[in-house]
Amino acid sequence: MQPRDLSAHDPYEAGRGIEEVARELGRDPDEFVKLASNENPLGPSPDAADAIREAAGRANSYPTAAHTDLTAAVADAWDVAEAQVWLANGGDGALDYLARAALSPGDDVLVPDPGFSYYAMSARYHHGAVRSYPLAAADDYAMDADTVLDAYDGERVVYVTSPHNPTGRVMALDEIERVAAETDEETLVIVDEAYGEYAAEPSAVSLVGGVASKEAGLSDAAEDRAPRDDVAVLRTFSKAYGLAGVRLGYAVVPDAWADAYARVNTPFAASEIACRAGLAAMGDREHVRESVETAAWAREYVSDHVDAPTLPSSGNFVLVEVGDGTGTYEALKRRGVIVRDTSSYGLPEYVRLTCGTREETRTAVSELNEVLA
Ligand SMILES: *Cc1c(COP(=O)(O)O)cnc(C)c1O
Repeated sequence: MQPRDLSAHDPYEAGRGIEEVARELGRDPDEFVKLASNENPLGPSPDAADAIREAAGRANSYPTAAHTDLTAAVADAWDVAEAQVWLANGGDGALDYLARAALSPGDDVLVPDPGFSYYAMSARYHHGAVRSYPLAAADDYAMDADTVLDAYDGERVVYVTSPHNPTGRVMALDEIERVAAETDEETLVIVDEAYGEYAAEPSAVSLVGGVASKEAGLSDAAEDRAPRDDVAVLRTFSKAYGLAGVRLGYAVVPDAWADAYARVNTPFAASEIACRAGLAAMGDREHVRESVETAAWAREYVSDHVDAPTLPSSGNFVLVEVGDGTGTYEALKRRGVIVRDTSSYGLPEYVRLTCGTREETRTAVSELNEVLA
């Protein structure tokens, strides 16, 4: 027999890894700098690495207490109820839970184009159909409420990525609020803040009743907004917290959605190891601060020194307009720098450069300039 008809499902294309590329070119992995997947160049917090080692000895048990502890810590950091925090296997896992909770077969979702491919994949797994709203190249892919509302046609879920991957642009919080206000009551607006820590814009968690404590190392949430029941916010430990390898993320959902989690989640959505790492990482604010600062330095360095146009970015990456994205990607790879060819995002004229350490970023920029010359 065969799986069901999956011809409408696109396989996810991850950024290429060092091992993979080194093997393909028959070279030593140490010769490469990888700036392809928006990973944290500083690694995880040392506290998180210690917590992972300590948790190893408890790997025989289900993560009941760890799950509860991390949920409580996240809820506390955002000042929301614990039931509003849906832990998941990465932010991508949280997207799946939201799709499971929101979609009935045949419901439509609206995704940004260009955009993060997992929204459409997740919607299709859950028997949803996908429409898109265009981001305009002529406008440097800027986003406001009308960008969404002009294309909106009663979809059940609307995805907004802010900061957006791969453009780096943000949608202002007031504009996100307007999207929520001007779409149907039965439309859920999912605000993907995977890169929220890197942005100056306040978090949309304030739209579901949250306020980030200034101390938590999270982006501030604006205060004094009546909580909405049609916005969910996605956050992850994969980027600023440097824990992409443990797979940990969460959604902050409206109070009215709280009960749905127990009905849709894969039991123990986040592992003992992931939860303990996440808790330790939240406790190391200095590491998050340094990660954000390094990215801010690298963004500026790239836009000041690359001999090609760049988009203003609020993430830990910069989209560079090189003309021939795939050719540039291939040439850089041979020079030991792995970037993201954004053709699969529908942006064949660009490459996306993740913010590295100062040294990695300088190397990448100088190699890129030689390729461009
Ligand atoms: C990285 C990323 C995520 C989440 O990734 P996880 O590793 O699954 O947490 C979500 N959305 C966007 C736009 C991303 O770039």
